[in-house]
Amino acid sequence: MRNRKIPMRKCVACQEMKTKKELVRIVRSPENEVIIDSTGKKSGRGAYLCKTVSCSQLAMKNNSLDRALKHQVDREIYEQLELNFTKIEEHDGKK
Ligand SMILES: [Zn+2]
Repeated sequence: MRNRKIPMRKCVACQEMKTKKELVRIVRSPENEVIIDSTGKKSGRGAYLCKTVSCSQLAMKNNSLDRALKHQVDREIYEQLELNFTKIEEHDGKK
């Protein structure tokens, strides 16, 4: 019965349900700005993506964030995500 109350969110790239901790939130603000929401508290339409290089690449290939946010997302955002996740994976690999 543990973990029943943890809210799950769906990754826009691989469509898997994960906990918020495993995902990063990308928000389209009311001003139509697309931002990587590291705090998870920004208002606006949100989409979630696994913190993995493979999901960021998959999302870029399929324009998953564009579709989820119903707005064109700059390549820079995808590249920034990929860079962030590369760092996370390198960090995890050093354990
Ligand atoms: Zn994913």
